[in-house]
Amino acid sequence: MLSVYIKTYGCQMNERDSEAVAAQLVARGYALAPTEQVADVVLINTCSVRDMAEQKAIGKMQTVIGQARKKRPDQIYGFMGCMAQSRGQSLIDQLPDVDLVLGTQKFHRAAEYLDDIFAGRRDKIVDTDVEEDSEAKIREHILPGGGEKAVTAFVSIMQGCNQHCTFCIVPFTRGEERSRSIPDIVAECRDLASRGVREVTLLGQIVTSFGKRDIPLKDGRSAFVQLIEAVHEIEGIERIRFTSPHPKGYGDDLVEAYARLPKLVESAHLPVQSGSDRLLKAMHRGYTRERFVNLVGKLRAVKPGMGITTDIIVGFPGETEEDFADTLSLCSEVEFDMAFGFKYSPRRDTPAAAMPGQLSEELIEERHQRLLTVINDLAARKYERYVGRQVQILVEGVSRRNAARFEGRTSCNKIVVFPGSERHRGQLLDLRIERVGHYTLYGDPAIHLD
Ligand code: SF4
Repeated sequence: MLSVYIKTYGCQMNERDSEAVAAQLVARGYALAPTEQVADVVLINTCSVRDMAEQKAIGKMQTVIGQARKKRPDQIYGFMGCMAQSRGQSLIDQLPDVDLVLGTQKFHRAAEYLDDIFAGRRDKIVDTDVEEDSEAKIREHILPGGGEKAVTAFVSIMQGCNQHCTFCIVPFTRGEERSRSIPDIVAECRDLASRGVREVTLLGQIVTSFGKRDIPLKDGRSAFVQLIEAVHEIEGIERIRFTSPHPKGYGDDLVEAYARLPKLVESAHLPVQSGSDRLLKAMHRGYTRERFVNLVGKLRAVKPGMGITTDIIVGFPGETEEDFADTLSLCSEVEFDMAFGFKYSPRRDTPAAAMPGQLSEELIEERHQRLLTVINDLAARKYERYVGRQVQILVEGVSRRNAARFEGRTSCNKIVVFPGSERHRGQLLDLRIERVGHYTLYGDPAIHLD
């Protein structure tokens, strides 16, 4: 039996794509190898969002090949995902041992292409073409954490993005927006529920644009809200999350859905990117700081406990000290529960890469550190407020922080570690918070309520 090892870099969309490739290969008779050393096929699913992510994936492949080539002359190597899409044949030119380069609309062809390579029908394969309906082919699941024990699962609902933010390579690597049909997604969620999954995360590069062009409004409700309503009907699914939305995609229908649909979690990831209107315009984000703050206000009016997280880019071309101060003040005004700060990295073919006013790495690093300090201080104060409060978590399994404990997440997306056992897995459990750690809450054994 042949075996495959898949290493994934990047976002949840990449994790989901790797799960789909793994499911496809297992169905074709492959085993999943525990390490790259013992695998017959090593696939690296790549990210292009920052140059460092690309260099990491290339470095990893170089290391794997360097360690194994002499001992395992028949081992097959492949790149897939965003960097495979954007670099194509040049990856094989750079690393001639690589056999397969699979673009973002070709994940479903992995097994077929590996068969061709093993059978000697083809030597090197590079496929980064556009493929009609590829979004509907990412369906089968290999669930993480031991398969049938998984409590949560990612469901890919759409691919691509038409927004063209000036810093972002995604529209080039993932292509135009393409959405699956609602019945198809619901069927996948039903299947997951029948396998014990209690929480689904609906995934896409810009989920709030789901079905925009193909599914008409229904009683003023967007296709995305219609999809959430349909998933909400599924027995066994207790919670619905989604990522990534675009702040400008949060219409009143979606805000109102939080009040109406109890399975929709009290959590919103709203990537703001900057607190400066000047930079938001240069980034082509399509909203102002005021509109963003109003949106947060609307969400908190509907759900006062709403956890709000965000992404922020530091060092966008032309960012002045004043622009950066606007970003810091926005963080304090909104009081994000968590923010991911990204150092700006110029990406090929994006408008921002050619903009004047590119900042030095030192300045970006210095601002990034200042941002992290503000974000971490705000979050620490927010987490402290949970001490003594009762929260409900969905228990996901053994804690990633402490293997002797279990963990789950609150509806507002806070991780809670507690001394549970297997019988708690998949349960909605009420706990009282005793103490906090770094972005973690701890429930006390003496008073957890069964
Ligand atoms: S909306 Fe998101 S994925 Fe689309 S271009 Fe902007 S940052 Fe990239």
